[in-house]
Parts: sequence; C-alpha cells; structure tokens
Amino acid sequence: MRAAVEQGLLDSEPLVCLLDTAGIRASAAALTGAFAAATAPGTPVLHAFAAKASPLVPVLRLLADCGLGCEVASAGELALARAAGIPAERIVLDSPAKTTGELREALALGITVNADNHQELERLDALIAAAPTRSPIGVRVNPQTGAGAIDALSTATATSKFGIGLRDPGARERLVRACLDRPWITRLHAHSGSQGLPLPLIARGVRELHALAEEINAAAGRRQVDTLDIGGGLPVNFASDEETPTYAEYADALREAVPALFDGSYGLVTEFGRSLLAKHGTVLARVEYTKATGGRPIALTHAGVQVATRTVYAPAAWPLRILPYDAKGLPKTGPPVAQDVAGPACFAGDLLATARDLPELAPGDLIAVPDTGAYFFTAHYGYNSLPRPPVHGFTADPPGPVRFTPVRPAQTTTEIVAESGGALRDALL
Ligand SMILES: *Cc1c(COP(=O)(O)O)cnc(C)c1O
Repeated sequence: MRAAVEQGLLDSEPLVCLLDTAGIRASAAALTGAFAAATAPGTPVLHAFAAKASPLVPVLRLLADCGLGCEVASAGELALARAAGIPAERIVLDSPAKTTGELREALALGITVNADNHQELERLDALIAAAPTRSPIGVRVNPQTGAGAIDALSTATATSKFGIGLRDPGARERLVRACLDRPWITRLHAHSGSQGLPLPLIARGVRELHALAEEINAAAGRRQVDTLDIGGGLPVNFASDEETPTYAEYADALREAVPALFDGSYGLVTEFGRSLLAKHGTVLARVEYTKATGGRPIALTHAGVQVATRTVYAPAAWPLRILPYDAKGLPKTGPPVAQDVAGPACFAGDLLATARDLPELAPGDLIAVPDTGAYFFTAHYGYNSLPRPPVHGFTADPPGPVRFTPVRPAQTTTEIVAESGGALRDALL
C-alpha cells in the first residue's frame, strides 16, 4: 500500500485495483502440483481457468505461462482467451445458451465444447454432419446432489438451469442413449457450484460423473468417454489471509470419494476460477469524506457496488475484510469504532461494511479490500456510470522495490460517453 502511494498510483485516481503476480503463479503451481501428485503418470490433465473469474487478457496470458488453459462461456470470453494466445486445444466452451453461430465457430476452431442439453446435441448433429471437426465434445450433467450455502451459486440442485439432470425419471437412460447414438461424445462435464460448497458435496458430484462414464463405456463396449471435466468451485476463505481449503485437500477428498478417478483411465479437465485469483487481488480506495448520522460514523469512499456488487447486494453471503491505512499507505491504528464503509454510488445500500469495528477513518485515509481478485473488480457493474478502475499487477521481492505494471487502464469519461451512444446523440429525435 505504501509503495502504491509513494509511486503515485492514487495521485490521479481515487480507486485502484492490484494483482499480486507472484501469488497468482504460486496458486497455479499449487493446483498443477496437487493434481500431478494425485494422478497416475501420463494422465492427460488440462486445468482450464474459468475466464469469468478474471477476464483480463494479461491474467489469462500469465496463467497460460503457468501451464493453464481457459474455460470460456461467451463470445467475449473466447475472444479474450484467443487474444491471450491460448491455443484452441486448451480452450473449453461451456455456456448454457450457445448460439448456432458460436457453436459453428467453436467447432471450426477445434476448441472443446460441452453441450448443455439435448436440443444443443441436436444442433451439434447437424453442424458436425455439415463440417467435420476436431473439437472434443462433451455433455454437461447435473448430478442433482444438492445446494451449498449460497443458492444463487449452486448448480447441482434438483432444478438447476445447468446441464442434464441425472435423477429425473428416465433422464439417465435417455442421456446414455444419446451418447451411444453419438460416438463423437467423448467427455462428460459437471460443475456443482461455486463458493459455499463443502468438498465432500463437490466430490459426490464427481463420483456421479465417473459412474455415468463407466456405465456409458460398458454399454458402448469400448472406452467412448475418455475424459472427465470436473469443473471448478473450490471455495475461498474470505475471513483471513489463510488459503484454505487447498488443492491438495481437494485432491484428497476426490480420491476418497472416487478412488478410480486418478488411475489414468480418464483424462481430466478442471475449471477453477475463484480459488486461483481471489486471494491475489486488492482494491485500494481513498476515503473522500467522513460524517456521523444517527450516531453512526460513516466513511464515504470510492469503492462500492461497482467493484463489489455481490457484497453490496448480498452482504451476508459475501462479507469482505476492510484493512485501514493512512494517507501515506501505512497501517492505521487506533481504538476500534463501529462505522459504515460506504461506496460512491447513489443508493443507500452501497456499503462495503456496516457497523464494522475499525480505527476511526478520516478524509484522505485509504481502505484496502483484500481477497477481491476474482469476480469483484473484474466483474464491473456499470451503475451510475462509475468508471472501471485501473488494474495494476505488482511484484514485491524484498529488499527490492515493489514494481507495478499496468494490466487494465482506467476507463475514461470519453469512453463512457462513446459506450453510451455518444455518437448517436440525435438517434431518438
Ligand atoms: C463459474 C464456473 C467455473 C468456475 O467456478 P469457481 O468457483 O470460480 O472455481 C467453472 N466451471 C463452470 C462451468 C462455471 O460456470
């Protein structure tokens, strides 16, 4: 924080976002190491980073440099992965509502496609008949193993919108038949949700996936399904700097629930997002004003709903730590005072913390919001035309100086006007 202040990052911006490059590399190494240790030698494993967690080209490029691929779920994310130079054979397309045009492009590029439903499989029938493809093709299944702590992020519920449910009457038989009818289906995919899922629940979904693959292969009389995509969803600890659970613990939970998963009979694909990036991002914002209303001290800062949308709208599910710093970027100390930490947006709920015990903040102080490297400032919310803040990567190798490097420029007001129909001013006259 001190280096960011000293090097002037906050001189022209009241809000900046920071990414710890070495931390991201360390998480990528922990992931690849845990699976390399767990799998039989020679097992093909692709770790496809879920782009939606941090859709920034330099981040995708950094992770590719660490040996990862990319999971995408829209034309925009696919374009980012390609801009980052990720080769087609390391890209997985998963969206639940792919258009025919998106499917055709994916098949032409040779990227992996996971179909979401029977209608999509019928579209693929026609596309593949018209133009052969080297794309591996999978089917997303919903093991219907149940929700975790956050309903909106649980994808293996009885009525989830994702994939083909396995437990509905007749559904399993219909899916097995659909696979046997299509020898080009060689993968099965499940992703049981994101944040709030206990490891044994995620592992149970993977066990269902493995059992289904065995059933299809037995019925086919050959190893038609050769790869299992087990999704992402490793939860992140937002309460402290500790990184728990670890990828090694997750691999242990998988081995316990599905002993055959790592024996080399199936290639594996993973799709982690949050667990790779969350701990390595920090929002740094200036306190503009302070006041007390109704006896409650309130700090008005520049970090609000635009960078922490989920926290603002669902504060109980997404609590964030607030770390206080003075104007020089030194940790601020003092007796704790319960205060609200508010953002800049024009609605009353725009609070990052309510009645939080912190040293009393003053104008010019800074707040750091750690654990925001995934789904926070990289999932900007355009409310109030607040600009996307700049993102800087940093490396800190003591005793050398902290070095910052721009990753995403600040959005300018000129860009906001242009993206808001500025060139079409008279369109409605
Ligand atoms: C969001 C998503 C992921 C990543 O989830 P994390 O919780 O960020 O690891 C993986 N796969 C699919 C299909 C997703 O939708």
